[in-house]
Amino acid sequence: MFLQRSAVAIARRAAVAPAARRTLATSAVRLESKVPETKIKSFKEIKTADDLFGPGAPPGTVPTDIEQSTGLERLEILGKMEGVDVFDMRPLDASRLGTLAQPVMVRSAGEEQFAGCTGVPADSHNVLWLRMTRDRPVERCPECGSVYKMEYVGPQDDGHHHDDHHGHGWEEPKTMADFVKPEYY
Ligand SMILES: [Zn+2]
Repeated sequence: MFLQRSAVAIARRAAVAPAARRTLATSAVRLESKVPETKIKSFKEIKTADDLFGPGAPPGTVPTDIEQSTGLERLEILGKMEGVDVFDMRPLDASRLGTLAQPVMVRSAGEEQFAGCTGVPADSHNVLWLRMTRDRPVERCPECGSVYKMEYVGPQDDGHHHDDHHGHGWEEPKTMADFVKPEYY
């Protein structure tokens, strides 16, 4: 039994030792090869999309989000590090019912925006998703009647033209008759 065990121990040592030596050798090489230090740009230093690249992780390590994330994800992380909520993730104002005169404003940087209404106070009814667009920014919750209005905050010169936006002579239906297809007349 004793012999057996020591044989196993020797075998184990033999198996482990070269691997350990190799690890030391590799890390020595790693220290010698100089990885160019790339400074992590802060949120305020981001000027263009080209600034939204991280330095990457040092060889042999698992990258963190701040090291490897790119694009909008990187912008969001950099913002969070300085307390800036880039995508404005706060819930909408649910302290009052939106009215046509004073709708609950929903900021959007895109053509359309979905907003989930749960009534006043929040969670009074099941969530109902309302769709607002730049052409039709006002929407009313069919459950509680709260009015929401999309406020476009995106770029102004993004090729959005109100006249030929739909391209096929499509018009917002104004009466039920507008839902009847022309070929049925
Ligand atoms: Zn509602």
